[in-house]
Amino acid sequence: MAAQALAQPAGQLAVIDLTGPLRVDVSYGELGSMVDALARYLLTRIQPGDRVGVLLSQSPWCVAAHLAVWKVGAISVPLFKLFKRDALASRAGDAGLQFVFTDTEGSDLLGDLAEAVLVDQVGLAGGEVAFAETLPDTPAVLIYTSGTTGSPKGALHGHWVLTGHLPGVAISHDHLGQPGDCLWTPADWAWIGGLFDVAMPGLALGVPVVAARLDKFTPEACADVIARGDVRNVFFPPTALRMLKAAGQGLDGLRSVASGGEPLGAEMLAWGKRRLGVSINEFYGQTECNMVASSCGADYAPRPGCIGKAVPGHTVAVLDDAGQATAGEGDVAVRRGSPSMMLKYWNRPDETAAKFRGDWLITGDRGIWEGEYLRFVGREDDVITSSGYRIGPAEIEDCLMTHPAVATVGVVGKPDPLRTEIVKAYVVLKPAAQVTAKELQDHVKTHLAQYSYPREISFVEALPMTVTGKVIRKELKARAAAEMLL
Ligand code: ATP
Ligand code: MG
Repeated sequence: MAAQALAQPAGQLAVIDLTGPLRVDVSYGELGSMVDALARYLLTRIQPGDRVGVLLSQSPWCVAAHLAVWKVGAISVPLFKLFKRDALASRAGDAGLQFVFTDTEGSDLLGDLAEAVLVDQVGLAGGEVAFAETLPDTPAVLIYTSGTTGSPKGALHGHWVLTGHLPGVAISHDHLGQPGDCLWTPADWAWIGGLFDVAMPGLALGVPVVAARLDKFTPEACADVIARGDVRNVFFPPTALRMLKAAGQGLDGLRSVASGGEPLGAEMLAWGKRRLGVSINEFYGQTECNMVASSCGADYAPRPGCIGKAVPGHTVAVLDDAGQATAGEGDVAVRRGSPSMMLKYWNRPDETAAKFRGDWLITGDRGIWEGEYLRFVGREDDVITSSGYRIGPAEIEDCLMTHPAVATVGVVGKPDPLRTEIVKAYVVLKPAAQVTAKELQDHVKTHLAQYSYPREISFVEALPMTVTGKVIRKELKARAAAEMLL
């Protein structure tokens, strides 16, 4: 995988570093020297298959660190700079980390959890390091899930994982690799969405990648990075899009925008056309098996509520309870052999076994085909059963988002003795906006179905979020269940 990411001519631009006051352009040749410096450090200290942490924000050193670990046949473990001590400790312990490539800030965070290796202090002088011999399924990267539904699980991927991402990344950016393309994401590279939807595919496809640090995402800072880096292609997590939209911040000069990780909805797609001037291409995947479905504005327009079509290289199916393909709603599954599919969960044989059914990886998400498009119904645990109806929260959230007073919303099922569950919405209003629960209920009733309107609405200041910016529904559900007992 390291060879694949470094395969462009030495003089070609690889990373545009905007982390300091001045823009620094890093070529593939320079990046290769950084990789060799770190690989030389590892060669005498670790064995193939050992895990090495990478605790670095977006930067040329961050990609160099992963590439060095892969070059010597070890397994890199991306770690997030915003992790607190417990989050770092649980991952360092689970992964069995001895060394972590980091900077002084990261070294302070780590304390005695593992040996901190300061990347900019490893000498650059020395010879080239040979690429270790690896097969597609030789373990390369151990990457943790977002922890939206429970404690984060480490998904172990082979060297094939980058190949598995390339078609979906290209498609979701309307054929990434056009002259002038330049790729960026505000998401940290410690997540699969940053590392394998942006940083590594950019390198592998020869599209310059912008490294910038937004300690806090703000619409102004985002617009500034896009202007300074001549960014043309962005992967925005939905939460970033919601913040841009709420602030009324349009962006100019973009050729493609991709998004995934949470449902987007019709309102956001329409806004993207208006204020970003592009179709927001929604894609779908998970840390365990990513980039398996996508839309592509250039060829097949995104359809609201859908996550696009299956991406070439991945066989995606909707299965019924008996494991047979169904035309109705069922489990979204991906056939074994998909190159972006994890080898297993690290240290979790029972969870690994439960994740697969025969030839299929069961995503835990529910979907239904609409021709070749896959409609996202909801995470299995989030689908609401009310008076015998099965209701996906995404559709109701999307509908509420179309109301001008609503900034953001989380919909969950609240236990109900009569109806099994009722639809409950937690709504954050836009600053100074005023609306009654009844008005919002009527809004849903007139746009969706009588049975799916939220019987209860609570107005809240903010929704609980993961560090990756996803709404933690588990917490909303717990809140709703606790309200039952009051
Ligand atoms: P955990 O598995 O730890 O609970 P997580 O599932 O949020 O956390 P990720 O692997 O980052 O961790 O996210 C994958 C999940 O995100 C998918 O299984 C799906 O539920 C959701 N998702 C991804 N893309 C989309 C999309 N386009 N629309 C709706 N949901 C999506
Ligand atoms: Mg998951």
